[in-house]
Amino acid sequence: MKVSAVIPAAGMGLRMGGNIPKQFLTLSGKPLLHHTLAAFQQCDVVDSVVLVVPEKELKNTREKWLGHPAIVKKVIQGGAQRQDSVRNGFEALGPDTDIVVVHDGVRPFVTPDLIRKSVQTASDFGAVITAVPVNDTLKKADAQGVVECTVSRDHLWRVQTPQAFRYELLREAFEKAGRDGFYGTDEGSLIENLGREVKIIPGSELNIKITRSEDLLLGETIFNQMNGKPRTS
Ligand code: C5P
Repeated sequence: MKVSAVIPAAGMGLRMGGNIPKQFLTLSGKPLLHHTLAAFQQCDVVDSVVLVVPEKELKNTREKWLGHPAIVKKVIQGGAQRQDSVRNGFEALGPDTDIVVVHDGVRPFVTPDLIRKSVQTASDFGAVITAVPVNDTLKKADAQGVVECTVSRDHLWRVQTPQAFRYELLREAFEKAGRDGFYGTDEGSLIENLGREVKIIPGSELNIKITRSEDLLLGETIFNQMNGKPRTS
């Protein structure tokens, strides 16, 4: 079984402020992407990674990441939206690929074990997403911030990556999304748009997406915890 991963890291990270896209910011002395790629390098079921980066970072990133870690076989240019970037990455894969794993570059705490479970489930089920149950109370509010109602959190999930798919299923899903002009914020929604089932497996509360500056602070603590280092405060 040939397993390839697409890692979209072509966002400009505007929410974080500053000039450096967040995927290149430093976590525990190394770029976020280093940690993300290390998990894929260590995962015995993944054969190769296609890394997708912003156009202006392409040359630097190629020099920096291609061949190091060795699992990165291609570095390619992203698109306007996340889905465009993942599609660019998908199109760079060989048609002999059996399973495609998609994982956000800015989720550095993914583990080889979670990647492996995603791949196994995709092999059996076709399409799998990782997610954690919603624990907080949910409210719907109007534009002025006044509560309209409480929304039941039963059966609600916060969706993460990795997500994994049989190659043919994801190819069909991208084609239909293209025809429909459909844009989703994850690849699971493209499978839903195709009318096919998507299986959820448990993700991890530690598998956070580094989006805001406070996530980096939290990220340092998670990194230390996962690597057996003492807390700094
Ligand atoms: O947009 P969001 O913060 O959910 O981004 C998730 C991942 O998608 C990030 O790793 C980001 O770099 C990537 N992305 C991309 N191309 C875009 C927008 C986001 O590869 N146009």
